Amino acid sequence: MTCEAKDDKLEALLSRAAGSVRALSVDEMAYLLSLNDLADLSRLYAAARDVKLRCCGIGVSVRGLVESGNICAKDCLYCGIRKSNANVKRYSLSADEIADAAEEAKALGYASLVVQSGEIESEAHTSFIEDVLRRIAPLDLGVTLSLGEQTEEVYRRWREAGAERYLLRIETSNPKLYATLHPAECSWERRVECLRTLRRTGYQVGTGVMCALPGQTAVDLARDIAFYGDMDVDMIGMGPYIPHPDTPLAATAPALSKAERLQLGLKMIAVTRLYLHDVNIAAATALQALADDGREQGVMAGANVIMPNVTATRYRRSYQLYEGKPCLDEQASLCRHCLEYRLKTIGEELLFGRRGDSPHFHRRTHT
Ligand code: SAM
Ligand code: SF4
Repeated sequence: MTCEAKDDKLEALLSRAAGSVRALSVDEMAYLLSLNDLADLSRLYAAARDVKLRCCGIGVSVRGLVESGNICAKDCLYCGIRKSNANVKRYSLSADEIADAAEEAKALGYASLVVQSGEIESEAHTSFIEDVLRRIAPLDLGVTLSLGEQTEEVYRRWREAGAERYLLRIETSNPKLYATLHPAECSWERRVECLRTLRRTGYQVGTGVMCALPGQTAVDLARDIAFYGDMDVDMIGMGPYIPHPDTPLAATAPALSKAERLQLGLKMIAVTRLYLHDVNIAAATALQALADDGREQGVMAGANVIMPNVTATRYRRSYQLYEGKPCLDEQASLCRHCLEYRLKTIGEELLFGRRGDSPHFHRRTHT
């Protein structure tokens, strides 16, 4: 293909994608995800950012992130807090500590909160989370839970106690690839079923994948984006896989540079924005682990949500999913000022005092 023909092809794809939702085939998305030329990438990110501005508006929604505990019953082969990692000092925040973090988020002007932890399925944990949700309800925060696979009854109880959104990454939409990343007892089908249950239960539903996984192809990633569309999700939380030295997957991980992992993460954001238009897409913390300004680059590639950490700093070292987690020592207030400044430099602003519900959720429930 000549340079002109390549330019025309890219131009045609970007303008069709920007013009209507879900207008790209899997092969076309795989083509966009394989771009490496810097001029082509600039055009891809600019087109995605235009769609973000048109469909979600100017500004970046903000959620305070509470890492409520690192005790996990699972052994995902890539995750630093997997149950077999004996080098992790385990912790579980008390209800008071979670409530303190929620109050701090509110005081900083964050109108939404994400509570994330290792996966625990037990009555004691279910009722603990219920109590926490009821306790923080007077703060009137939009609460997202990211607490893994649970039964329908548990999801219902947490919904009734005040949680409105739930994030459960599918990790990869390819069941064969999923099987290489998890022990045999983990079921890809159960994870999909959980996403359907969450939708039925009335949550704004989020999912996502990791990119730059061993054995993953551009077509796998394109199918991941098609999967988001097929599941009609409201929010996407995805990011590059970053090896953690104390995990089995680190030994087989492709030797990619930080820049390559970051670039793939940005391409996933851009192509997802171009395909789905009005979903919330987070600029994941993993982007910031790969470059200081990784989250800002995520926003410039089409993301519209950022989740600064509001967990007490003394716990942050114990919640390391991958190597190089950023902001281990920065107090929440410092993170807020730093982020505010960083977004200003790219002509964006944090949307303080606004919950930032997914425009897609609004459309699908109000039309
Ligand atoms: N335990 C819950 C679950 O698995 O759904 C929620 C917390 S879990 C730590 C949140 C996400 O961290 C996972 O869905 C996974 O995608 C991501 N994660 C884990 N290890 C990672 C790694 N090494 N690199 C990048 N992301 C990772
Ligand atoms: Fe546990 Fe989630 Fe990590 Fe898997 S990804 S080991 S479920 S915390």
